[in-house]
Amino acid sequence: MLIYLEKVRKKTLFSRFEPIVTEPLELMYLKTVLDSMDIESIILDPVFSLEAPGDRLPDMVILTGYNVAEEEILKRARWWKGRDSNILVMVSGVHVQLNSNKFMEEYIDFIFHSQDFEIFRELLSNLQRGGWAGELPGVHIRKRDDTWALGEVRSVQRPEGILPSRDLFLKNRDRLRYVDKKGIALIKGGRGCPYNCSYCYCRSLNGSTYVRPDFYQMFGEMDGIGADHYWIVDDVLLVDRKDALEFIEASRAVDFKGSIIAYLRADFIKREGDLLGELHDSGLHEVIIGFETPDKEELKDYNKNMDGNIYKEAIRLLRESNIQLTALFMVHPDYGMGEFFRLWSFIIKNSLDLYTISIFTPLPGSEEFHWYKDSLTSDRPERFDFLHLVLPSRLPRPVFYGMFYLSHLKLLFSKRILKYIAMR
Ligand code: SF4
Repeated sequence: MLIYLEKVRKKTLFSRFEPIVTEPLELMYLKTVLDSMDIESIILDPVFSLEAPGDRLPDMVILTGYNVAEEEILKRARWWKGRDSNILVMVSGVHVQLNSNKFMEEYIDFIFHSQDFEIFRELLSNLQRGGWAGELPGVHIRKRDDTWALGEVRSVQRPEGILPSRDLFLKNRDRLRYVDKKGIALIKGGRGCPYNCSYCYCRSLNGSTYVRPDFYQMFGEMDGIGADHYWIVDDVLLVDRKDALEFIEASRAVDFKGSIIAYLRADFIKREGDLLGELHDSGLHEVIIGFETPDKEELKDYNKNMDGNIYKEAIRLLRESNIQLTALFMVHPDYGMGEFFRLWSFIIKNSLDLYTISIFTPLPGSEEFHWYKDSLTSDRPERFDFLHLVLPSRLPRPVFYGMFYLSHLKLLFSKRILKYIAMR
C-alpha cells in the first residue's frame, strides 16, 4: 500500500515573503502511524518542492490544508479521483474538522474529523484487512451508494503517545523558520483551549474538550530532536501557576538547552510575573500573545475576559525577563480613523518590535460565523485569510485597507524583520 500525504497550500500576500516556514505537522503525525504499520508513505508539500513521483500512482491520498485552501483541496481531491477511481481520497485537518459537510463529495471517500490518531490507525487497519471501513467514530465514510456513514465526534481525552515523524525536519531544517529564528521544529502537547473568546474557533476544536499537555513528555520529545528552536503550537501553553511550575521542573529534568516559542495570555504574564525569569531559564525565549486590541470595551465584546490596562505591565515584565514578544492585534471592520490611531499609538508607545495585525474574520465552522453569515460580503474561502474584509466596513473600503496597511509601517523598522531580511 502506498499513501501520499499532501499539504495543500494557498499563497497569501505575506506568505510570498515566507517569514514563517514550518513542517506540515498533522501529516507528520499521520506518517508516524503509517511507518509503525509498515505502510509506505510520501509527503507532498510545494513549500519544500516535494512532488508526487511521476511513475507511481498511490492507493490512497490524504489532503490537508487551512481554510483558505478549501477550494484547492476539493480540486486536488477531484483530480486524484479522476486519475484513477480506485485511489482512496481522505481529507483531514483543522478546517475539515469544523466544516466536514463541505467535503461530502463523490470524489472523497473519508473525512477524518478527529484529532485522535488512533482512529486513523484503526481506519487503516480495516482497509488493510481488505474490508471497507464500515462505521468509525471520528471519520465520515462515503458508502458504496454514495450516502455517508457519519462518525460521531471523537475527542482526545489525554495527551497521546504518538509523536510526529521528524523526517521532513531533518532534511529541511535550514528552510524551517519563524522570522529570524531558523531550524525550528513544531511541537504539540495539549488539545483545544480552556478559554472562550468569541471570535476564535480554537475553543471548538477537539469537541470543545481541553487537554492539558504532559510537560515531561513534551520536553522528552524536544530533547530528542536537536532543533535550534521549538515552536509549541498549543493554543495556550501555560494556563496557571501549576502549569508554569511543571514546565520548569520538566525542563530541568532533561537539562533543556533549546529555545522555545509559545502562545500565552497577557493575564498569565501579569499574574505569574515572578516566574518569568525561571521560565526563561527553562527555555521560554519568546511568547506570542493575542492582545487583539488595547480597548477595554472591544475586549469585552470579544469575551476575552481581560482588561487591556494590563498589557503595558505584561510587556514590561517580559522585557525585564528577556523574553521576546510577538503581539497579535485584530482590527474590526467597524473601525474608524480614531480606532486605528489608538492602535498605532499603542504599538509605538510600547515600542513593539514584532507584531501582526489581522482583520476580524468570522471563520466558517465557528459559532461567530452563524451570527455574521447574513452580512458577509464574500463567500470565497481564500478571502477568509484575515487580510481581506469579508464584512461591510464603516470606513470606505480603500480607506480601511489604506489604514490597515499603514498600521504595518513600523515593521519596516523592526530589528527582527531587518535581521530576517539580511538572513534570506
Ligand atoms: S483567542 Fe486564545 S485564549 Fe481565546 S479561545 Fe482562542 S486560543 Fe483560547
